[in-house]
Amino acid sequence: MEEIQTDVLVIGSGLAGIVGALEAESAGLKVLITGKFSIGMGTNSSLAGGFFAAETTNYSREDHLNETLKYGKGLSQQRLVRILTDRARECIEKLMEFGVPLFEGRRGYEVKGEEGSYLLPGIILMRILIERLKRSSVGLLPGAVIFELLIDEDRIIGALGFFRDGRPFFVHSKAIILAMGGAGGIFIRNDNQKSILGDGYAIALRAGVPIFDLEFIQFYPFVLAEPKLSSIILIPPFPKEMKFLNEKGEDPIEALGIKCDYHQAIIFHRDYLSIKLYEASQKGDIYCDLRGVPDWRWERFPLNFLKKSKFPFRQRPFLISPAAHFFMGGLKIDDFCRTDITGLFASGEIVWGIHGANRLGGNALTECLVFGRIAGQSAAEYAQGREFSLTESMKKRGEKRIKEYLKKRKGIFDNPRDLLKEIKNLAWKYAGPIREENLLKEGLNQLDSIQKKIERIYPERVKDLFLKRDLENILLILQAILKGSLLRKESRGAFFRKDFPNQDDENWLKNTSYRIFKGEMLISHQPISN
Ligand SMILES: Cc1cc2nc3c(=O)[nH]c(=O)nc-3n(C[C@H](O)[C@H](O)[C@H](O)COP(=O)(O)OP(=O)(O)OC[C@H]3O[C@@H](n4cnc5c(N)ncnc54)[C@H](O)[C@@H]3O)c2cc1C
Repeated sequence: MEEIQTDVLVIGSGLAGIVGALEAESAGLKVLITGKFSIGMGTNSSLAGGFFAAETTNYSREDHLNETLKYGKGLSQQRLVRILTDRARECIEKLMEFGVPLFEGRRGYEVKGEEGSYLLPGIILMRILIERLKRSSVGLLPGAVIFELLIDEDRIIGALGFFRDGRPFFVHSKAIILAMGGAGGIFIRNDNQKSILGDGYAIALRAGVPIFDLEFIQFYPFVLAEPKLSSIILIPPFPKEMKFLNEKGEDPIEALGIKCDYHQAIIFHRDYLSIKLYEASQKGDIYCDLRGVPDWRWERFPLNFLKKSKFPFRQRPFLISPAAHFFMGGLKIDDFCRTDITGLFASGEIVWGIHGANRLGGNALTECLVFGRIAGQSAAEYAQGREFSLTESMKKRGEKRIKEYLKKRKGIFDNPRDLLKEIKNLAWKYAGPIREENLLKEGLNQLDSIQKKIERIYPERVKDLFLKRDLENILLILQAILKGSLLRKESRGAFFRKDFPNQDDENWLKNTSYRIFKGEMLISHQPISN
C-alpha cells in the first residue's frame, strides 16, 4: 500500500476544492488535492453556467441575503447565509485577480468567454484555476478515489482509497477538506458529471458524521434527453423564439396554464417548472423547438455551443426532460467550515445549510468560492505546527480495510454496470421531482433486492472494485432520501409530495438529520437553529 503524508488533504478538485487548496498552500503548508478522474475537469464546476450570485451596483447585500432566505423557505442556516452574502463580492474580486473573466450583471457576476467563444463558462473558469494550481506547490493526485476516512477518537487522521489502476493508497493528513460535490449523478436523468455520485455524503455517514436535509434535491427543467446525446442543460439566455411541444404539437407548458418568461423562470421557479414538466413527460415526450431562432443568435453563446454538435438542433425539435441538478443537503459546518470531527473541514455542494429547501440560482458557485476559501484558511490554521501522530495500530487498521475491499469470493454475480443502470432508474422513478407514499415504499422495497445483488459483487477486475463502491454509495444515499422523503409529510421548496402538496410550517419547519449508528440509519427532525 502506498503511504503518503501531507499537512492538508483536499478531497475533490471542483471550484470549492481548488480554491481551498490554494488558500491552504498560501499559508506555507504541504497540500495535496485529489479528483476521481482528472484534476478540475471531471467536476460539476467545469459544467457550470458561470453565474455567481453576489451584491452588485443595483443589488444590495441585503437583497442577496433576503432572496437566498426566501428560496430556502425557512430551512437555511441564517449565519451561513450572512457569511455568504457578506463575503461574496470580496471573493469574486479575488477570482478576478486570478484572471477569471467575470462581468457584473444584475444579481451577480457572470463568467464570459471572448466574443463568439463556445466554451462553457465552467471550462473557462476551471482552466484558469487549474493553471494557477499547476504553478503552485499543491500536489496533484488525479484518479485517486477515496473510499473512506480514518478517524481516531473523533479526530481525523487520514483517508484511504485506490488509484484508478487498482493500487491502494493511504494518505495520512493533519487536516482534511471534503469538497466532493453533491450526488446528482445517482439519477438516470441528471445534468451532472457521471462521477458525481454522493461519495462525500456516503463516506461521511459511514464515519459517523451526520448529514442534513438530503431529501431536498433541485431539479432543472430543461435538459437534453435525446438517447445518444449527453444530458447537457439548456442554459440562459434563452432565445425568445424557443418553444416547447408535446407529441400532439401543443405547448405543454402553456397547456398547463403557465405563462412565463423562461429566462426569469429558470432563476426563480425552476422547481415548479420541473414538477410540471415531469408530470407532462409522464404522459408523453416533450420537445424543445429552436427552428424559429434567427441565424445571428446561433453565432452566440450558448446556441453556438449546441451548433457545434452533430445533432441537427436547427433542423428538428429535440427531446428534453427535467433532470437532477443540485443537492441542498449535506454536512453541517460552523462559520469556519469545521465539521463535527476535529481536523475535518468541508466546503462546496457537499455542505448543508445555505440553501435550505431550495437554492437561488448562482448561489452554488458563490458558496464554493466563499466557503472554499474559509475551509482552506481554517484547515491551514488547524494543521500549522501540529505533529503527525500515526501509530502502528492505525496503520494496521488501514491495511485491514484495504484487504477487505480486495477480498475475492467464488461464485457468479450480477453485472455491476446493469445494476448501476437499474439503481439510477429506480432513483428517478421513486425519488424524482414528484414523490408520494406508495411510490417511496415501493422504491425502498426494490432497493432491498438491489442491495442483496450489490453485496454479492466481488472485485474480479479493478473496474468492479470502483463500480461496487459507486453502487454502495448510491444505495446508502438513496435509502436515506427515500426514508427521509417518506417521513416529511409536506411540500417545501424543491421538495414535492403529491400526497402532501402544501407547505406545513406548523409541523415541518424542521431540518432532517441522517446518521448511521451501529450500522442503522437514524433519521430525526430538529427545529431550526441558527
Ligand atoms: C450543468 C450545471 C450548471 C450549473 N451552473 C451553475 C451556475 O451557473 N451557477 C451556480 O451557482 N451553480 C451552478 N451549478 C451548480 C454548481 O456548478 C455546483 O454546485 C458546484 O460547481 C459544485 O462544486 P464543488 O467544488 O462543490 O464540487 P464539484 O465541482 O462537483 O467537484 C467535486 C470533486 O470531488 C471529487 N470527488 C468526488 N468523489 C470523490 C472520491 N470518492 N474520491 C476523490 N475525489 C472525489 C470529484 O472528482 C470532483 O473533483 C451548475 C451545476 C450543473 C450540473
